Amino acid sequence: MESLRFERQVRFFGEEGQRKIRNTKPLVIGAGGIGSHVIQQLAFLGVGALHIIDPDVLEKTNANRLIGVNDADQAGKSKAAIAERLVRRINPNIDVTAEQQDVLELIESRDQPFGTDWVFSCVDDDGVRLKLLQEVAGGPTLIDCATEVVPREEGLPNFGGRICVADGTDGCPYCRDLYDEQEIRHSLADADELQDEAERYGVAPEELEDSGPSVVTLNGIVASLACNEFMAAVAGIRKPKPILEYRGNYGIVAASQDPLPDSCLYCDDWRTGA
Ligand SMILES: [Zn+2]
Repeated sequence: MESLRFERQVRFFGEEGQRKIRNTKPLVIGAGGIGSHVIQQLAFLGVGALHIIDPDVLEKTNANRLIGVNDADQAGKSKAAIAERLVRRINPNIDVTAEQQDVLELIESRDQPFGTDWVFSCVDDDGVRLKLLQEVAGGPTLIDCATEVVPREEGLPNFGGRICVADGTDGCPYCRDLYDEQEIRHSLADADELQDEAERYGVAPEELEDSGPSVVTLNGIVASLACNEFMAAVAGIRKPKPILEYRGNYGIVAASQDPLPDSCLYCDDWRTGA
């Protein structure tokens, strides 16, 4: 089976493209709703190695969307371990490592580069996204993935998602205005600051960190956009689009036409190669 495994995609982008994909070893941070889709697709595409990091464990409410989960999996099982099992079942030749680790702690304790050209940011918190961007800027290409479901006063919510491919040439999620400043503040605040803010707004502190709705279909669209741009770039099909946005209420995917902002706290040096 091995020699024929990739035959249908080699028809698309050639043996050389497949070899380039095999030579990648992407790092996927977040193995939840979006990350588990990304991991599955990278495994099927035929990357040579995969490094997976996720701090969380399985909860019963994840069963509607976590790719690779079995009905027999108990709550409390590490999501990183579930993702590792998924990869091994798809292709045991992939060199996969999975760690259950807090992303901010990982960033703070890290004393060497990530050792990869590709980082997929599939976390669900803009504070963690920003820290990750800060860490990656100037190095590997970052593909930042997010879905969004925004309640409306009447009727069903607005829904969609987006990816941002940041490689130093076209800005980053920060200057492209994709992060929520308030969410960043909440995420990076300590317990006292969170308590102060909660009192100011008259809500419980945990409500400031509340997770939104999540559905397998939306996660799958965003993950597919991310992996498709990865494939296009690595296999030499075309340059990746810096931002692709899925607007669920209209049923369209659009590439951002916004001009590149003049300067950015996070990617100026990356842009100039400094
Ligand atoms: Zn930027």
